[in-house]
Amino acid sequence: MNIIGYSKALYTTWVYYSPERILFDAGEGVSTMMNNKIYAIKHIFLTHGHVDHISGLWSLINTRNNAMGDRGKDLSIYYPKGNKGIEEYLTFIRKVNSDLRFNLNIYPIEDGSEIILRDSKQNKKFIRAFKVKHTQNEKSFGYHVFEERKKLKKEFQNLSQNEIAELAKLYGSDYITEKYNSKILTFSGDTYLLKKKDIEDTEILFHECTFLNKNDRKYNNHATIEDIVELVKDTKIKKLILYHISGRYLRKVESIISRYRYELENIELYYIKPDKLFKL
Ligand SMILES: [Zn+2]
Ligand SMILES: [Zn+2]
Repeated sequence: MNIIGYSKALYTTWVYYSPERILFDAGEGVSTMMNNKIYAIKHIFLTHGHVDHISGLWSLINTRNNAMGDRGKDLSIYYPKGNKGIEEYLTFIRKVNSDLRFNLNIYPIEDGSEIILRDSKQNKKFIRAFKVKHTQNEKSFGYHVFEERKKLKKEFQNLSQNEIAELAKLYGSDYITEKYNSKILTFSGDTYLLKKKDIEDTEILFHECTFLNKNDRKYNNHATIEDIVELVKDTKIKKLILYHISGRYLRKVESIISRYRYELENIELYYIKPDKLFKL
């Protein structure tokens, strides 16, 4: 299990991606549900300052400070620079928890900022923030997780396995391969439909899906399932995980979403049910 999360539009949203120990957003209930796993969190990436995405932060920090667990490791929080709501809230949390027993680092970041998650010879991963369209005046980001991978250089792609092995033996594997950054996960925050160029080459796409019926949407702040399905068709996405679904659809969520499965035959479609802990 690499992913756990809980999400219901207007109430709470948080998703924990355990391979990189990242919590995306920190809505209400996150510390209660994650329990002592909150000590495993290394990075928290906040998408924006609406209460359903940050209200669990105070409790998480307070619990991590006082419950039984390892306080030796730092916790780092990243958020869209200039987001006033988040800044005020973090100032308040700092004030009421002035004697923190672990290191809390706070980093305001810009659109396009890159944050290294790990950097060894075999394993390099980083996050890149990107701007998304949500409510006016609310600076909102999505986040991509990238992994550095190697591929055979173009000029060697027609060679046989034996010829490639021979070249690697003679000149080393760096001679025949080149590095590229592969997008392994995208978490989109609250957003109107994302741009295709941002998500077409990601492996796991978390897309908010507040509305399961286009007619229920009044403003262009959120996405609908019809639009998302149209967006992801013919992309290389492997897994699509819909979240931030409105509680009004609770009873019919499965029947509505299953209608779209056949349209997305090459993509595994998942959703975070608005009343249930999601695990994958
Ligand atoms: Zn929200
Ligand atoms: Zn929002």
